[in-house]
Amino acid sequence: MSATDRPDRPPWADFKGALERAGFHPSRRLGQNFLLDDNMARAIASDSGVTAGHFTLEVGPGCGFLSVHLAHAGARLLCVEIDPRLAPIARDFLQPYPDAEVIEADVLASKSSLAPEVLERLPAAGEWTLCANLPYSISGPFLATVAQLQNPPSRVACLVQKEVAERLASAPGDATWGPLSAAFQESYEVTLGRFVPPQLFWPRPKVDSAVFLADLRGDLAAPEERARRMQFFRDLMQRRRKSLRRVLSDLVGGAQATRSLEALDLDPLRRAETLSLPELRALEREARADV
Ligand code: SAM
Repeated sequence: MSATDRPDRPPWADFKGALERAGFHPSRRLGQNFLLDDNMARAIASDSGVTAGHFTLEVGPGCGFLSVHLAHAGARLLCVEIDPRLAPIARDFLQPYPDAEVIEADVLASKSSLAPEVLERLPAAGEWTLCANLPYSISGPFLATVAQLQNPPSRVACLVQKEVAERLASAPGDATWGPLSAAFQESYEVTLGRFVPPQLFWPRPKVDSAVFLADLRGDLAAPEERARRMQFFRDLMQRRRKSLRRVLSDLVGGAQATRSLEALDLDPLRRAETLSLPELRALEREARADV
C-alpha cells in the first residue's frame, strides 16, 4: 500500500481546511510553514536516498506530510516535534507504519546540544540520515550541532531558506561564504538541491526555499578536533572582511599570529573569507601549536 493510496487518508488539501476548522493558527516563531505539495514532499524524501531499514531523523514533522514518504520508503523513522498540537496528528498519520516514532520535544536542549531523548535514540555507529523541512529559527544552530556529533548523519537532505542553502553550499570567494559554510563543510560535502517556491507552503513564506544535500566527508576528524576547528573557523569568519593578521592577532595574540602566517606562507593582508578549507584547517593547527 502506498502513502498516496491509503484509503484512510483525506485528500491532501483538506489538511489545511481541517487545521483551520480546528482553530489552528500556524506559529511563526516555530517556523510553521507546511509543505502542502505532495509531489515535492515525495521528491525531497527521495533526495534523501532513504531505503528500507535505514534510520532517519526528521525534525519538525508538523502533520507528517514529509514523514509519510520517508516511512513509506521503509525508514526507521524518528520524528521530533515541539508543538503538542501537531505531534498527535503526525503520530496518527504515521500509525500504519510501525517503524515510525513521533516524540514531542524541542530537538535542541541548548544552542549547541541535542535534547537527551533525541540523542539516546540516534545510532551510536553506522550510517543514518537527516531529512527535514527545518524551522528557520533553529536551522543554523541545529545543523552546526549535528555536524559535531560523535556519529553525525552520513546524509543530510533538508529544506531550508534558499539563502541558508546557498550559504551552506557556497565556496570561498562566493558572496554567501561565511561562518556557517566553513563550519558545516568541515564535516560535509554540500550541494544545492531543488528550489521550492513560496506558493507550495501554507502559510506562504516571504522568502524562497531550497533543499541542500550533504554527504559526510570520508576524512572526518575526531569530534573534539571537529568542534575545535569549527569554533576557530567561526571566530575567524565572523570578521571575514578584516585582514588575517588583525583577526588572528585578536584570537591568539600578535606573536603567535605572525609566526603562524609565516609558517604557512600566508599573506597577512589576505582576508579570512578568501581561505580555502585546507588553508583554514592548516591555520587552525598552526595557530594553536606551541611556540
Ligand atoms: N515537516 C512539516 C512540513 O514539511 O510540512 C512541517 C515543517 S515546518 C517548516 C517546521 C516544523 O518544525 C513545525 O512543525 C514546528 O512546529 C517544528 N519545530 C519548530 N521548532 C522545533 C524544535 N526546536 N524542535 C522540534 N520541532 C520544531
